[in-house]
Amino acid sequence: MQPFPSIVLRTITVMLCIISPATITLASAATPGALISRGSGAGTEQHQLPANAIDNQALPHTALHDSDKTNDRLPVYQLANNTYFLYGNIAQIDDENRGWNGNAGFIITQDGVVVIDALGTPKLGQRLIATIKNITDKPIRYLIITHNHPDHAYGASAFRSVDGVHIIAHAAIMEYMNSQTYQESVAYRRELLKNDMQGFEDIQPDTLIRNKPFEAHRFKLGQQNFAIYNVGNHHSHGDLVVHQVEQNIVWISDLAFNQRTTYMGDGNSKQAITAQDWLLEKFSNARLMIPGHGSAQTLPFPMVKKTRAYIQQLRNKMGKLVDEGVGLYDAVKQADLQEWQNTRLYEQNHRANANFVYREMERELFE
Ligand SMILES: [Zn+2]
Repeated sequence: MQPFPSIVLRTITVMLCIISPATITLASAATPGALISRGSGAGTEQHQLPANAIDNQALPHTALHDSDKTNDRLPVYQLANNTYFLYGNIAQIDDENRGWNGNAGFIITQDGVVVIDALGTPKLGQRLIATIKNITDKPIRYLIITHNHPDHAYGASAFRSVDGVHIIAHAAIMEYMNSQTYQESVAYRRELLKNDMQGFEDIQPDTLIRNKPFEAHRFKLGQQNFAIYNVGNHHSHGDLVVHQVEQNIVWISDLAFNQRTTYMGDGNSKQAITAQDWLLEKFSNARLMIPGHGSAQTLPFPMVKKTRAYIQQLRNKMGKLVDEGVGLYDAVKQADLQEWQNTRLYEQNHRANANFVYREMERELFE
């Protein structure tokens, strides 16, 4: 017995015959998460790039050079139709990643491009622009800064030289730019990456997001809807989450970290947990979540649960030590969380996180 009636078989045969080679190339290029370009520049051959950036634990490693040109492209992945991803190194900044230690991405619509985050130096911003221009001739219309930490925002100056770009950021960005932390972080990057930081300027956003917590600012470009949620100050002075409505893809910024230990320096651990719970509930059916660090992820988004668990454990531990009257110095010395010790950047971030959370727990005693 034939599994299909003969009319169906004939239709399938006709369909197979009309698939042109061009269609096949397009179909394979669109494999979700695939690396589609290794970029250009002196170190391109030394890049170690996972073939796929979705649900992949392999880490990217790029070798950028001081001598690379501002129009040298960066490696890029395609996560979905019209959705592209720049997969940052999981590391602190050094000579080789040249400040590329966070993710960025862009979405191409019929009427232009929406960019999410600007990378960590004006030069990386310029290279991001060159990468986009190599893939589409549509104009860049929006740059959304998810938060103003260096790895996500210090490339924004480069977008000022592109005609017609509208920059969107959280209203608290202005407060951050008046802080000493900001001055110090700019000075640090300038010292370490002198040439890459050339042309750096304070960001001048065109739109400041002031929506109530967990409410969205919405806009439409080329038939695609975008919702930008204010998720409060959980990780920085103000953090945004961006939803590509039709594609159901969520850019979660640093609300969760994948493949590394989180950083807690000027956010709020209690709000982080509230925001993570909101994220998992609100986007329980999302097709993809894209973090600010690490690969993109599909359901059930274990990176969100993991980051939440780390923060909760640290709160419990520091809260207990505060209750017992243990001082800050001794508490930080006792702060190790064994199950996290093999996570990347634990050594560099954990004690600072413990210090931060200890002081939060102390303040919470008096609230
Ligand atoms: Zn970050």
